[in-house]
Amino acid sequence: MSTLPPTLEGRSLTKHFLVKKGQSMFSRRQRLHAVDDVSISLRAGRVTAVVGESGSGKSVLARMLARIVTPTSGQLFLQGEQMPVGQAGRRSYASDVQLVLQDPFSSMNPVHTVRHHLTRPLMIHGRAGGDLEEKLADLLVRVSLQPPDRFLDRYPHELSGGQLQRVSFARALAVGPKVILADEPVSMLDVSIRLGLLNLIAELREKESLAILYITHDIASARYLADDAVVMYAGQVVERAPARRLTDEPAHPYTELLLSAAPDPARAAPAPLATKGAPPRLFSPPPGCRFHPRCPHVMEICRTTPPPPVETGDSHLASCWLHVPAGSRQAVQPARAELSNKQRTTARKETAASKKE
Ligand code: SF4
Repeated sequence: MSTLPPTLEGRSLTKHFLVKKGQSMFSRRQRLHAVDDVSISLRAGRVTAVVGESGSGKSVLARMLARIVTPTSGQLFLQGEQMPVGQAGRRSYASDVQLVLQDPFSSMNPVHTVRHHLTRPLMIHGRAGGDLEEKLADLLVRVSLQPPDRFLDRYPHELSGGQLQRVSFARALAVGPKVILADEPVSMLDVSIRLGLLNLIAELREKESLAILYITHDIASARYLADDAVVMYAGQVVERAPARRLTDEPAHPYTELLLSAAPDPARAAPAPLATKGAPPRLFSPPPGCRFHPRCPHVMEICRTTPPPPVETGDSHLASCWLHVPAGSRQAVQPARAELSNKQRTTARKETAASKKE
């Protein structure tokens, strides 16, 4: 992994939603553990992939990094400076950190042209001065929509999904960001045009030296595009490593499961992902290792105590008891149990505070 200081860093980010279950006035609010204690660093000129099934918390993580969702706890640092909680300074933050969403059709207003969608961020962020036409053309050239005149006065419905997603990236580039958070940017596109978009993201990394977060459920595309990869399961990070290493030598059984379901020309048909069970309900995540109900290697300790992150190679961490020597497991266990108690106390305090509000 790169030793450059992070452009954007999230430390111990946690997001719990209090959700009312049922229609009755006596219905109690329950805690949904969307993201628990996730740390992540994004560096200039690198793509970091976050991989996981739906409901793993990866999109909520992207929204916390974009400061659209306020973390329950944890901190954000942009170029080493801690960001305030809440909306203070949100506009200047957005000029550095831009979010590109999965569905380009719903993220663009259908009654406005490409020209409008690109001019608006330039104006809001005070970058519309000088030759506006030249700036608009330059944005479209940077996302390979050429000649620009062919696209500027078109409406969203006149463009293909791939062209529209390129406009989404041009809109993000309009404010001169240092970081782009791309939430499943190719998953709604035809398979035939996904590769073009992945290559565009790779170009932006290299030519513009952007720090890029690439959220995906497709571990094969993470291997193709990303420099570093993080695997999330049920709101937690279970493994992180350089992307090639993670896919060549997975150290966590869940990563192995994701890889077994990825398309492989050597296999006649992909293995179904849910070979055993499904991701847990995040209202009451399983105790111990959250993956234990699905894990083919589950041991007794896995059912009671969360595994610590263990270094399994250079810059390679996996949270799995298989990597703690059997003789050392009991020594690690009390410290993890104490951590869980602390987390439970914090959760109780937060629930009490939310009831008072
Ligand atoms: Fe499986 Fe246990 Fe490792 Fe969890 S900690 S992945 S249950 S072996």
